[in-house]
Amino acid sequence: MVTMGEITHFLNPRGFALSVQAEMDDLTLGGLCMGVGIETTSHREGFLFETVEAFEIITADGELIRSTREENADLFHALPWSHGTLGFLVAIELRITRIKSHVRLDYEPYDSLDALCGRLNDLVLSDHAPYFVEALAFSDNSGVILKGDFATPPPDERAKINRINNYYKPWFYTHAERSLEIGHFSEYIPTRHYYHRHTPSVFFQLKDLIRFANTPYYRHLWAWMGAPKISLMKLTMTRELRRQAFENRVAQDILVPIEHLADSIRLSDELFGIYPLWICPARLFSHGSHEGFLRNPSNAKESQMFVDLGIYGLPAGIESGTYNQVQVSRKLEKFVRDWGGYQMLYADICMTRGEFEQMFEHRHYRAMRRKFNAENAFPEVYHKVIPEKWIRKEIDELCNEAG
Ligand SMILES: Cc1cc2nc3c(=O)[nH]c(=O)nc-3n(C[C@H](O)[C@H](O)[C@H](O)COP(=O)(O)OP(=O)(O)OC[C@H]3O[C@@H](n4cnc5c(N)ncnc54)[C@H](O)[C@@H]3O)c2cc1C
Repeated sequence: MVTMGEITHFLNPRGFALSVQAEMDDLTLGGLCMGVGIETTSHREGFLFETVEAFEIITADGELIRSTREENADLFHALPWSHGTLGFLVAIELRITRIKSHVRLDYEPYDSLDALCGRLNDLVLSDHAPYFVEALAFSDNSGVILKGDFATPPPDERAKINRINNYYKPWFYTHAERSLEIGHFSEYIPTRHYYHRHTPSVFFQLKDLIRFANTPYYRHLWAWMGAPKISLMKLTMTRELRRQAFENRVAQDILVPIEHLADSIRLSDELFGIYPLWICPARLFSHGSHEGFLRNPSNAKESQMFVDLGIYGLPAGIESGTYNQVQVSRKLEKFVRDWGGYQMLYADICMTRGEFEQMFEHRHYRAMRRKFNAENAFPEVYHKVIPEKWIRKEIDELCNEAG
């Protein structure tokens, strides 16, 4: 339950950070290690769990078990993505990294989707890949690549320091979008501001909750209060609001091999028409005989480059009344399965159990559930992450129709 905000608050002033430092303040180490944990260093490091040296869990039998790559290695590799269905994680040892005071960030605008995807591919696969890499797509043919490295601003460049998370500043992604107009530029961002750059705007979601929240008067008068807490909003959600959110809002992250990025963006455009999109490359590593919930790379190599496409917002078809969340989500999920990709499981999933097992490898996971007596204590991941029963009804009907 240690949050990312607490981690950077403690580590950054001491000159350190997590090797994969997720940026939303409220995400927890436990949730990110048992769930996903992807960030702008993931093209080198992989997911956060790749930087873990030891997990300690309490099993269903009440036993405390330490697992590392050498000790209880089978359990160690089964824990990532297990979403708490093998035991309670009570301690983690993980790698931290030295940082500098600032990140020098380059904003590279593109007016062609293929050019952006090609450049991103070359960048992350190069031996000299920048330390931090992400991209934002602002339409089906425009976007910005953001490349960063740690730096100490030289005295003659101190005017280029931008404290982007000061509450009155424009949201980070709208600032990045400016480079589509003014062209390539670079600046120095204090490191902790960089790490939490998407927090004030809740990535791209605050604009749908408070439409005027990025206007100068709102920012100067009210933004010091921060963005609403997602967990609090979920906790206080009535059944009707939950139904509306399920039917009308999209919050999806899909992971596909990087060569399918352009097609993923085109499909997202066709299904949702939502912008901006978050694009974050991530390396998936092979774990040999301990293949966990994610399969070893299909290229039979030590690692394979994937990319996360984050789609958050209100779909364009809502206003015309043509949008059907279940049908559209199932099309997206099929695309992801067809290319050997994965869906982040905090999102509403509309897959049948069979489809889910096609996407995620269950062999080793189930062996570990048997070995540590989790079967009668915790649900399987599928049953933990599928939408509530009353929402499932519609999904089940559609699945039945589709055979
Ligand atoms: C606005 C927003 C932004 C996001 N940005 C990112 C991002 O940048 N990068 C990224 O990777 N993901 C991101 N996510 C997705 C997020 O990573 C996943 O939802 C993650 O798994 C959740 O972290 P959490 O701390 O909220 O965990 P929770 O949702 O609380 O937990 C996730 C799962 O892990 C289990 N779990 C948590 N703690 C423990 C424990 N101690 N022992 C056993 N099981 C445990 C929970 O039961 C649950 O099944 C984002 C989500 C949102 C809503």
